[in-house]
Amino acid sequence: MHRFTVNYHERDGQRRGTLLNRGYFISSLPRVILACRLLGHRPVIDGYNSKHSNDRARWVCCDRCGVRPDPQGQLDPDRWDIGERYDGPFDGVRPPYPSREEIKQRAEQGLPLYEREPVPGPWPAKPTGDVGAQVIIGKSFPGWDAELKIGNAGSEHTLAAHLRLHPFGAIYLHTERFGTWLQRRLNPTGYQSRVISIGIQHGGIDWKLWAKRDEPSRDDPWWMRGTLKLDPRDRLFGRRRYDYKDIGDPVTVTVRMPHGDDHEVRLKLQQCTDGRNRRRFHSWTVDWFTRPGIATKQHDRGKTLGSAVEVSAASVEEGTWPAEAAAGIATRMTADRTRYGYRPRIAVVSHDFDVEVD
Ligand SMILES: [Zn+2]
Repeated sequence: MHRFTVNYHERDGQRRGTLLNRGYFISSLPRVILACRLLGHRPVIDGYNSKHSNDRARWVCCDRCGVRPDPQGQLDPDRWDIGERYDGPFDGVRPPYPSREEIKQRAEQGLPLYEREPVPGPWPAKPTGDVGAQVIIGKSFPGWDAELKIGNAGSEHTLAAHLRLHPFGAIYLHTERFGTWLQRRLNPTGYQSRVISIGIQHGGIDWKLWAKRDEPSRDDPWWMRGTLKLDPRDRLFGRRRYDYKDIGDPVTVTVRMPHGDDHEVRLKLQQCTDGRNRRRFHSWTVDWFTRPGIATKQHDRGKTLGSAVEVSAASVEEGTWPAEAAAGIATRMTADRTRYGYRPRIAVVSHDFDVEVD
């Protein structure tokens, strides 16, 4: 067992408003797996089938605690299915396994793949794991959120969790190999970690429910992730204490994004008064909405369907407020695209054909 701490202040320089930023780690901590101690490990086949190539692999691990024998074995994918109980020998030795080149040569010569199948070796006598934490007191990143991650079969961090309450502090926790039982129950195959989280940031409430951490897909069900926008007018002016009165009829304009996409947007001019202050005039605001929405995130659900934007009193007097609102919407949506890492396809116009590049 080995204990150590890292002072991120000293390592990365102190941020203003952060009082403490320190990591605490314990490595090579014995994993006491009572059931496995009493009953012995429960050997099953683990491995993967690549989606993108013919690459497949099979090895052995304990279904309960996830410990792998040493060596873990390199079994024949045609003979063994993932999840199947392994009832073969445990007398494998460390290399030499045949190299890929040797395997290819043997296959070409019509010989069996291995002289002797590289079966797993003995179970490790004293399995260990690591745990770590990072504690921040003071400012971290804007927003509040809580997240739990269940790793995948290839994750370095088996479980991870954090709680962030800016500007008060944050705590990040992770385990290595501890919690493999849970990971094998909930997320045994594939290489996608799963995340459950809720957060308040960027003027909305974000949630993730068993969402794939690294590869959001448009085939994911709607409930897997989403954002509830808080009232955009409150976002613009702070607490809800203002009254809004519609002025005139709605107007439709085209908002042209710098990335080349156009959007038909419906605008509603509103006069905003300070409700707490005897309805004193406060500002002019334009409520806008558009369908199917302006994409601001890579995946399909990152669309903004509407919000509010402020316009000048002069533009209302002159009647040019729709143009000012359209420009304001484009500015705001462009900033959101930057913030969310959206990389739109920009149309490059050539002489006789259009090329789309990422
Ligand atoms: Zn076990």
